[in-house]
Amino acid sequence: GSTIGIIGGGQLGRMLAMAAARLGYRTVILEPQEDCPAAQVASEHIVAAYDDPNALEQLAELSDVVTYEFENVPVDSVEMLNESKAVFPPPEALKVSQDRVAEKRFLNKAGIQTAQWRIVENEGDLKAALLAFDGKGILKTRRFGYDGKGQIKFTGAKGESAKSGFAAIGSVPSILEALVDFTREISVIAARDEDGNIKVYDIAENVHKDGILATSSVPVSVSSTIAGLAADSARKLLDGLNYVGVVGMEFFVLANGTLLANEFAPRVHNSGHWTEAACAVSQFEQHIRAIAGLPLGDTRRHSDCVMENLIGDDIGRVPMLLQETGAVVHLYGKAEARSGRKMGHVTRITKRL
Ligand code: ATP
Ligand code: MG
Ligand code: MG
Repeated sequence: GSTIGIIGGGQLGRMLAMAAARLGYRTVILEPQEDCPAAQVASEHIVAAYDDPNALEQLAELSDVVTYEFENVPVDSVEMLNESKAVFPPPEALKVSQDRVAEKRFLNKAGIQTAQWRIVENEGDLKAALLAFDGKGILKTRRFGYDGKGQIKFTGAKGESAKSGFAAIGSVPSILEALVDFTREISVIAARDEDGNIKVYDIAENVHKDGILATSSVPVSVSSTIAGLAADSARKLLDGLNYVGVVGMEFFVLANGTLLANEFAPRVHNSGHWTEAACAVSQFEQHIRAIAGLPLGDTRRHSDCVMENLIGDDIGRVPMLLQETGAVVHLYGKAEARSGRKMGHVTRITKRL
């Protein structure tokens, strides 16, 4: 049998390892944290830093193909691995997604509309950018942001200042995005194989709480134009990056029917967890198929559903959820239920189609 290498040992790595095992693959993860969600299901675990040269060499030797489960993997590591083993998604996709400026440029160049944005290197840049956007916007660090961390919102209210705002995000290279007055947030999960075939799942509507995804619901009540536009954007992105694997792409829908891309993640995505309960082939299996050179699976949905993240203390609700008809419970095996920590998710089937 073949072995799939996975950089990162979080819940996404765990679910990828589970999907790989079901298709007969072994998995080896590279993750410094000994007791991580993926370690419980992977065949092998290299306990080392993501940029440890010896560990990377070992990973390359053990794997037939390598992938990653989070977007802050050092690009150097992935490029080094890519010299001896195929790494999917391609290093370029990782690179672009790690920097919000490179990401926005790439999207805009590919003809995908985003919110207006300005590079912010210092307080003066921020002042000028805020002036251009009527004092409203979201300041985001260019790198390492997730779950809404590293962001400051400007609403145009008195007392907001560029000086304290820039200091609050740590005075690091940033981007100011115009504040989008969206009616809903949607996302699309899509996959591309090495031959360039693309499969797209149905769009999900996402609701965030405290910057963290709370629920993803399918179907979404948007026009077929909007749905088509979102799927087309994903196709443009995948082709533009000569992508192999699953991508998650987030959008804002405006009241006037405009669709703006927010960001993409070069990996399986939290807003695609519903696919394990409502599709024959989940996003996790789809990713394994794409990177292993297997045919992409059917993305049709057999049910309507709502995926709810179980965060922190929500884990206490599991005994009740296990008694619910039509609820598919998935837990990540994390021992400590810290606040804001994703412990698992539940997908409720609301209607069989
Ligand atoms: P993720 O965990 O999805 O990677 P992140 O930290 O990268 O999150 P974003 O997706 O950029 O952050 O933003 C988090 C949320 O903040 C968005 O889902 C949206 O609700 C809100 N948001 C982000 N950018 C804007 C914007 N320009 N205008 C209005 N709201 C925004
Ligand atoms: Mg993000
Ligand atoms: Mg996001």
